[in-house]
Amino acid sequence: MNSYLHEVAGRLVSFDTVSSKSNAEAMAYLSAQLNDHGFRVSLQRSEIAGVPKINLSACAGPAEPGGLIISGHVDTVPFTGQPGWTRDPLRLEIDDSRVYGRGTSDMKVFLAQCVDAAARLEVATLKRPLVFLFTADEEIGCLGAERVLPALPELLGAIPQPRLAWIGEPTSYQVFHAHKGVVLFTITVRGLGGHSSVPEQGVNAIAVAGKVIETVGRYQAELRSQHSAAFAELFPESSYATLNFGGIRGGTAANMIAEECTVQVSYRPLPQADPLEAYRELARRLQAIDARDYGSPHHRATIELSDPFVVPPLLSPRETPLEGVLFAILQRHTSGGAPFATDGGQFARAGIASLICGPGDLEQAHQPDESIRREAFENGTEVILSVVNRMCGAGTLEKK
Ligand SMILES: [Zn+2]
Repeated sequence: MNSYLHEVAGRLVSFDTVSSKSNAEAMAYLSAQLNDHGFRVSLQRSEIAGVPKINLSACAGPAEPGGLIISGHVDTVPFTGQPGWTRDPLRLEIDDSRVYGRGTSDMKVFLAQCVDAAARLEVATLKRPLVFLFTADEEIGCLGAERVLPALPELLGAIPQPRLAWIGEPTSYQVFHAHKGVVLFTITVRGLGGHSSVPEQGVNAIAVAGKVIETVGRYQAELRSQHSAAFAELFPESSYATLNFGGIRGGTAANMIAEECTVQVSYRPLPQADPLEAYRELARRLQAIDARDYGSPHHRATIELSDPFVVPPLLSPRETPLEGVLFAILQRHTSGGAPFATDGGQFARAGIASLICGPGDLEQAHQPDESIRREAFENGTEVILSVVNRMCGAGTLEKK
């Protein structure tokens, strides 16, 4: 058992870094460790709704082009109130086959393996730069990556920004070079309230929201028929933009005309498409609705779409040096489309081609009693060291 890896993973899991909370303590810890291992650490500090948030970059090696970024997010999804937990989410626990704790698969163990690899790297032998980029707020729309990537050249100082990134999201070490984007928005229907006994004096927002749902649903069915032959292989389950109703809220009491109803909608656009095309089309169709309710011919409700929140899709080029190295080390032969969005879309915007591949298991991410296979826990540091050795030409110190 590697005691340093165990210690770092245990500490990382013990910090409650649910996205709504500050990650400052966890980042201070990571920063101190990486600094000890000879990395130059730069922090990007922000305050989001009064909560301190930090993105961390740590680099080592010469100021040469051709470096590599290894990246992961420090935040986790919530666990409070999530049914099914039989263990302490903030305590790393190990049994014969698995290692448990919130974030073990998604994706604190990978970060701990990065730190463990940093401890064992002979930093002075790096021929090309190695950058660790640890982000905040991935789970709430890749917001940390959105903040840090434009600032990355400055954080890296003299080191030219690498063009390749490896993001260790949980994939059971499958390699993914693409994923869909995510677009989220809320539709608000505003009617006219009043007593339920006089419906003609008001407009019921819930009734009009029914028409909204019908309209969005018909569009969803159209999208479903728009299969993309080009993406059939990458997204075999749905080579089209999938749409989802995520929530609905409206009305106050049985004897009142509902004044307001909100519907949360999201969809996942394919790479290479304009991610906002569907949003604009829906806005057009919703404005064309007859916004009267069935019991009141005189008044109309208003239908408003919130500004869309966009997580960009990813489509990295194939046959990069990083792909070759990951395939060789992990004995993989294919790369596909990930069934989830990542910071990679933000990397792509900054001109960095990223691959998604990590030791955790996708089916464990966000689950109660989240865990990672013990073998993947123990062997991950070696995988990182091999990748760094081949990509950045660094030697490895004797195992402590
Ligand atoms: Zn993740």
